[in-house]
Amino acid sequence: MKGGHIFTRATLDEIAPVLGPAEIQIAIDLFIGPCDADEREGAMIFSNHSCDPNIGVQGQIVFVALREIATGEELTHDWATTDDDDYSMTCRCGTTTCRGVITGRDWQNKELQRKYHGIFSWYLQRKIDHAADYLRIENPA
Ligand SMILES: [Zn+2]
Repeated sequence: MKGGHIFTRATLDEIAPVLGPAEIQIAIDLFIGPCDADEREGAMIFSNHSCDPNIGVQGQIVFVALREIATGEELTHDWATTDDDDYSMTCRCGTTTCRGVITGRDWQNKELQRKYHGIFSWYLQRKIDHAADYLRIENPA
């Protein structure tokens, strides 16, 4: 279970340079995570990205196993299922399904939408399910 404070992107932009990646997005402009260094350890789920993840999100903050996870195995989720952001980075997960480059917009990939149906964060699943409505809102005539 991911914990912490709930804050906007403006606050995230202020604290991210100090805390590094410690939050997850839970709604269009809301994030959950620590707000200072003393809270960081207790607010982390310590899940790295993988293109073949072993955990997935249910709702917004609950993560569940997608398969058997060995003791000591690193927890990973596909950040495509939680992120809607502007980043792009090389992936070195080393799995046979590695995309090579991951971006904060990978949730828009139709293949990933099929692969991860049911384990996208709530706000992303709503965007996927109601894509036409969101396009109208973001690009009014
Ligand atoms: Zn990868």
